[in-house]
Amino acid sequence: VPPLLEVEDLHVAFRVRGREVRAVNGLSYRLGEGETVAILGESGSGKSVAAQAVMGILDGPARVERGSVRLRGEELLGMPERRRRRYRGERISMIFQDALTALNPVFTVGDQIGEMYQVHRGMRRKEARAKAVELMERVRIPSAAARLGDHPHRFSGGMRQRIMIAMALALEPDVLIADEPTTALDVTVQAQIMRLLAGLRDELRMGMVLITHDLGVVAGVADRIVVMYAGSVAEEAPARELYARPAHPYTRGLLASVPRLDRRGGPLTPIGGAPPNPAALPPGCPFHPRCPRAEARCAVDRPPPVTVAPGHTAACHFAEEVHGAAPAGRPH
Ligand code: SF4
Ligand code: MG
Repeated sequence: VPPLLEVEDLHVAFRVRGREVRAVNGLSYRLGEGETVAILGESGSGKSVAAQAVMGILDGPARVERGSVRLRGEELLGMPERRRRRYRGERISMIFQDALTALNPVFTVGDQIGEMYQVHRGMRRKEARAKAVELMERVRIPSAAARLGDHPHRFSGGMRQRIMIAMALALEPDVLIADEPTTALDVTVQAQIMRLLAGLRDELRMGMVLITHDLGVVAGVADRIVVMYAGSVAEEAPARELYARPAHPYTRGLLASVPRLDRRGGPLTPIGGAPPNPAALPPGCPFHPRCPRAEARCAVDRPPPVTVAPGHTAACHFAEEVHGAAPAGRPH
C-alpha cells in the first residue's frame, strides 16, 4: 500500500535576472494517515516554497526541477491543471499564517464557508449554511449558528484562524498543509489552535504537514521533524529523538533558543548571523558561516546525510559526535 503522501527528492528553482536560484534542493518525506510531519526552518529556508510545490500553487518564476509528489501513489507533478485544481481542497488543503487577508472582508463567514459546498458540492445556499454551522461547531467556534451572519473583522485572530481551518476541512481532504498556522497569534491562542489541529487530524485521520520556524509549536504534535536550512534538509528524525538527541549543530542551536518553562526569563541563545542568500549559497556546508562547530573542511566539502540512528539523519561531517553529545535543551 503506498503511503498517503510521499515527497521524494523535490527540487524547486527559479530564475532571477538570468541566474538560477535553488529554493528547494532535495526534500523527501513520507506521511501516513493521522500522522504529522513538521517542516522546520527559518524564513527563506525553502519550507513554504516546498509546500506550494506539493499543493501545486507555485507562483511567479518558480518551477519544480525534479522530484516526485505522490498522493496514495498517484503522481501529482505534471498532472493536468484541471485535474490538479479538483484535488486542491478535495484531497489536499492548505491554511496560511494570515487568516485576515485570506478571508474576504465583504462577505459573512457563513457565506464564505457555505460557498465551499455551493461551488464544490452543488448545494443550495440554505443547505450550505447548515453545513457551515456544523463545521464551525467542529472547529469549536462558540454560538456558531448565531455567528453565521458576522463578517470576519468581528472575530478575534484565533477565531478567524478557526474559520480558515473550517474552510480547509470543508471537503474532507486527506492531507492538510498548515503553513505557520499560529505565527500571527499570541502564545495561549497558539496552543489552542495546535490542540484543535491535532484533534481534527486524529478525528478525521488526516495527514498533516506543519510548516513552522518555531520548534516549540510542534512539540507534542509532530511525529517526525524535517529541519531545512538554505533549501536543503539539515536533519530529519522522529520528533522525540530530534528533541532528545539532535545530531546537527543547527538543530541544537534552534533547540537552545526555544523558551523553556523551567527557565522562564532566562537568556535564550539565538543562533548568530542570518541564513544565506539562496542566490549566493556558500561553498561546502551551507551552515558553516554560522556554525559554532565548523572546521576548515566545512567551508570546502558539502556534508552528505549521515544516518545516526534508525530514521534519523543529519547532513553534518560531525553528526555522530553531535548526536552523542549532551542535549541542547528541550521545549516545554
Ligand atoms: Fe557545522 Fe561543519 Fe557540521 Fe556544517 S558540516 S553543520 S559547518 S560542523
Ligand atoms: Mg513562509
